[in-house]
Amino acid sequence: MIPYGRQDIRDEDVEAVVEVLRSDYLTQGPCVPRFERAVCEAVGAAHGVAVSSATAALHIACAALGLGPGGLLWTSPVTFVASANCARYCGAEVDFVDIDPRSFDLCPDALERKLVAAERSGRLPDVVVPVHLCGQSCDMRRIHALAQRFGFRIVEDASHAIGGHFDGEPIGSGRYSDVTVFSFHPVKIVTTGEGGMAVTNDAELAARMGRLRTHGITRDVELMDRPCEGPWYYEQLELGYNYRLTDLQAALGCTQLERLEEYVAQRERLADRYDELLAPLPVRTPWRDPSGRSAWHLYVVRVPRNGAVSRRVVFERLRQAGIGVNVHYIPVHTQPYYAAMGFLPEQFPEAMAYYAEAISLPLHPRLSRDEQDRVVAELARALEP
Ligand SMILES: *Cc1c(COP(=O)(O)O)cnc(C)c1O
Repeated sequence: MIPYGRQDIRDEDVEAVVEVLRSDYLTQGPCVPRFERAVCEAVGAAHGVAVSSATAALHIACAALGLGPGGLLWTSPVTFVASANCARYCGAEVDFVDIDPRSFDLCPDALERKLVAAERSGRLPDVVVPVHLCGQSCDMRRIHALAQRFGFRIVEDASHAIGGHFDGEPIGSGRYSDVTVFSFHPVKIVTTGEGGMAVTNDAELAARMGRLRTHGITRDVELMDRPCEGPWYYEQLELGYNYRLTDLQAALGCTQLERLEEYVAQRERLADRYDELLAPLPVRTPWRDPSGRSAWHLYVVRVPRNGAVSRRVVFERLRQAGIGVNVHYIPVHTQPYYAAMGFLPEQFPEAMAYYAEAISLPLHPRLSRDEQDRVVAELARALEP
């Protein structure tokens, strides 16, 4: 099976992890802050808080922004469930904004319409989570302008998008948002096994997220409620979690991150090649935003619903032929957990149209040209009536 995504682990990764295994600290040692600095440098952010997953990062970002019971978060229905679940962890409500049919990202026009209506009905969102689907940035300039006008905070879910650019700046620079979240799951651009990071330019937010990562505890005398009782003393100021990344994971992250540009460039080359090879086939290849650069986490084609063969048949034929295709994503509002809150599939028609047609083709830095040729040949065969 040619997988849709997979990690690239080299000798230097193995050596870096083994070195930590032989050192004094398996966690809370020097590697985590080193990894945080390296990610900040790569994406142009001031502060990074490394955590155990992007899910954890989304949670502490929302919590640090003050999202709580009675609050409201909006995100795209075409994303992994974690982009919405972070609000539920905070006790807040979730709603969705339909996607742009061209980019498949959260649609700024739909967002504006929904905000205008929400202002009239008196229930504006507190946090909006734009998801950079497949690695291509949402139109952050417009979303940021809407945030200024309607007073919400922005957490970018850039789980797919480390190494990508928007408007001449790396995704994560924070020019248009409060916090940006990255995932280091093995199918993503760079990996720590499991892991994530929240980056921000706001020192106070970073400190708050850092506390939430470790039980809500501080050792900073300045922040303490009572006089420090001695060198052992710490205070729990609020309810936090154990969302720490280990030094083993951070060491892997550091060596992986050194190859960020190489990885994105390789994914881009493969995407260019897919564009070319797929041009004669009856599928829609991804649209590219000329004002940015995708990190190419996913290469999604759309099999037209009115075509000769259904998406399901194409998908099953490809899997039978050993091509590890996937579908990203089942619209979150149709999941039983969210449907039980009253969401109906037809509320977000562009998301449903996308879901009916999307197939993610294999794309990762170790995908060879031969393998890619096989994917294209099998796709051509699968599309035959
Ligand atoms: C992978 C992913 C997440 C969750 O990442 P984890 O690190 O596995 O928690 C969140 N949002 C999106 C869009 C993702 O693809």
